[in-house]
Amino acid sequence: MLVSMSESTNFFSRAQGSVEVAARFAELHPALENTAAVTESQRCLYCFDAPCTAVCPTHVDVPKFIKKIASGNLEGSARSILDANILGASCARACPVQVLCEGACVMHRYNKQPIEIGRLQRFAMDALHASGDPLPFAPGADTGSRVALIGGGPASLACAAELRRRGVKAEIFDARPLPGGLNTYGIAEYKLPLAESLREIDLLAQLGVEFHFETVVDAAKLAELEASYDALFLGMGLGGIHKLGVVGESLQGVTNALDFIAGYKSGTIHAAPARVAVIGAGNTAIDAANAAVRLGASEVHMVYRRGSEQMSAFAFEYEHAREAGVKFLWHVMPVGVAGTTHVHGLELAHMETMEDGSLAPKPGETFMLAVDLIVVAIGQATHTEFLDRMPAQDGDKVRLERGRIVIDRETGQTSNPKYFAGGDCVNGGREVVDAVADGKRAGIGIAAWLAGQRQKSQKPAGGDDANA
Ligand code: SF4
Repeated sequence: MLVSMSESTNFFSRAQGSVEVAARFAELHPALENTAAVTESQRCLYCFDAPCTAVCPTHVDVPKFIKKIASGNLEGSARSILDANILGASCARACPVQVLCEGACVMHRYNKQPIEIGRLQRFAMDALHASGDPLPFAPGADTGSRVALIGGGPASLACAAELRRRGVKAEIFDARPLPGGLNTYGIAEYKLPLAESLREIDLLAQLGVEFHFETVVDAAKLAELEASYDALFLGMGLGGIHKLGVVGESLQGVTNALDFIAGYKSGTIHAAPARVAVIGAGNTAIDAANAAVRLGASEVHMVYRRGSEQMSAFAFEYEHAREAGVKFLWHVMPVGVAGTTHVHGLELAHMETMEDGSLAPKPGETFMLAVDLIVVAIGQATHTEFLDRMPAQDGDKVRLERGRIVIDRETGQTSNPKYFAGGDCVNGGREVVDAVADGKRAGIGIAAWLAGQRQKSQKPAGGDDANA
């Protein structure tokens, strides 16, 4: 299904189904009021060589946009943000600022609270959205080149914006019915509401990005796109969540964290049962556990085979889950799922460390946790195997390493010069802002490469020798 530019500017209206769920997911960091935003912006020291900017993967000029808030120039502030990060609104909400810009703020050196950069960025971006003003950029003069972007998440969106600003046609292909990838379907509603993700994409679509929804790109489709487009960007993120590999895993009531989060965000899941177990200890697992609490579960356990000190979730996410009432079971792993058609128990084994340092379940030391729902969140697999099956029509195949696409770090180009890539399918799963930085770099890289190709094709036969 192709959605043209004019139709695409109302994605936001398709978020109405999530209003009821959104009401139960009060935002973690509410918006700043006008006076509070100005006061906070005036606290900033507007540092030269600001560490907050250096640590941001997209290098948003933090002192510049904050200074503009202080002087009342909100439009200029939003423009400064968007210049560096076209998804500045979603990053303001979804970024782990505690370990990025706010973590690097010089205020820490003076034992003062860091500047609330994330909330100030959101303040500027919300003001732009509320104003109804158009995106402060126009598409570049048409170059005649066309790029197909696989996946509609942050990497592809950022790449498409850079291409459009340079006059390159950008068409996004995504298997889902709405754009945004993880921004729309995978980030907890209390951090980034689905409606906000769509509202941001409506603004970006003003650049003339086109969307093909519900379009699965497999090896055959990719070969078709390769034949029709001048370059391709691979931004399809990761695939499904790993399986537990235990008996009973296919019973009703066993799901994975991404489906669970996407389900309540898109309005197909309205409530959680009383007893929920979440398996894993990453940030996605925390999001799923917190969501289960907000959806009405009375007893939510997180289950992890190691200890709290080894969990991959950020410390502030862990604290957030503890405050929400989530309980943690450390040093245990699932060895079976009990039930007839529907799950009613999760069999867990205590872990022991073997001589070689590996972990193994202690023989005979298992116990049963009564549950009504199991949410698996033990990491995602890559989804790049179709690239291996792709007929190499135009040079080398796209090179993979351990399932991840290998790119040139400067341009995002892969081993096949016509293909570029970025985001989770390259880095294995990092933050939204990392995907945006990858997409931005690849968009610039693709436009430069296409310009070179056009120049080559315009040279007269014989090239320089013709003038000899
Ligand atoms: Fe402002 Fe802190 Fe950045 Fe300095 S480091 S510019 S004080 S936000």
